[in-house]
Amino acid sequence: MKVKAAYYKGNKHFSVETITPNAPEAGEVQIAVAYCGICGTDLHVYLGHMDARIGNHRVIGHEMSGTVVAVGSGVSDYSAGDRVVVRPLVACGKCPACLRGHAHVCQNLTFLGLDTDGAFQERWNVPAHTLHKIPDNLSLDEAALIEPVAVACHDVKRGNVQAGEDVLVIGGGPIGMLVALAAKNAGGKVTVSEINPSRLAVAEKLGMKTINPKETDAVETIMADTNNKGMDVVFEVSGTQPGIDLMTAAASVRGRIVMVAIHATKPEVDVFQFFWKELEMIGARVYEPADYDDAIALVADGGIPAKEIITGVEALANIEHAFSDLSGNPQAMKILIQCAEETPA
Ligand SMILES: [Zn+2]
Ligand SMILES: [Zn+2]
Repeated sequence: MKVKAAYYKGNKHFSVETITPNAPEAGEVQIAVAYCGICGTDLHVYLGHMDARIGNHRVIGHEMSGTVVAVGSGVSDYSAGDRVVVRPLVACGKCPACLRGHAHVCQNLTFLGLDTDGAFQERWNVPAHTLHKIPDNLSLDEAALIEPVAVACHDVKRGNVQAGEDVLVIGGGPIGMLVALAAKNAGGKVTVSEINPSRLAVAEKLGMKTINPKETDAVETIMADTNNKGMDVVFEVSGTQPGIDLMTAAASVRGRIVMVAIHATKPEVDVFQFFWKELEMIGARVYEPADYDDAIALVADGGIPAKEIITGVEALANIEHAFSDLSGNPQAMKILIQCAEETPA
């Protein structure tokens, strides 16, 4: 059997090649990949920022859904026909973080689809322990959102958002929007701060309050909206210096700040505010198995309106075009690549 696989070749280039997939090894399953979303990290790969880690012949992609087509020896929990998503983390099981129960931030973590070949291909072999089954009422295109929704569920759990709390999400890209939705589902009163007008429009459509700090004084507005209290929980998802300035200024006394964004350079942080307002800063990275269970429930029950977040679907053959389109399009939110032409029922 021959299948298609899209290899990142460096310098904003993908080559879609015809390959013969390996049979799944012991403990592995083979998945017919239905859809795989383009993640912010994948965009960084495309732009060449991660060549040292990725090389120039790698199938990337991890925000996927699909159907099991074969299982390797020793796999008893899954069989052909199971509809699944993959939690793309393989921990070492031996490091101090793993031994203390934090395998998702293992000190030797392998991320499938970056450190190994990923899901932008028709068949993908992964360890069976990374799978989560999805319910029948969850379509495979919507299920491709489970991975980023699991990120959002983890972030909201780390921020311990309680019903009735004022929540600020700084940055309304795909992850920011999903964090806002997950926080709203947890009962938070959510405001999204964003400067891109089309993203502001999406946030409003999804029932969020919005602030455009280019047009209004964000801190003044937040203080007025909260009777001079400030925000109980702030999620920094923008990865920008103005976002960092807003997070400390907008937080209430004893506010919690959750760092979701990847800041590639060291920002300037107003640490005085941590003393003055007894703030807490909480890191949040990837997800634990329970976050996947929560994400699956949230998307299946409509708590996350997946169709509003998915703004396009492209064929695997057009993957290069999909990436170039996404990197220059302010209207795009989440683009899915349809991988296997026909997915076995
Ligand atoms: Zn992702
Ligand atoms: Zn480990």
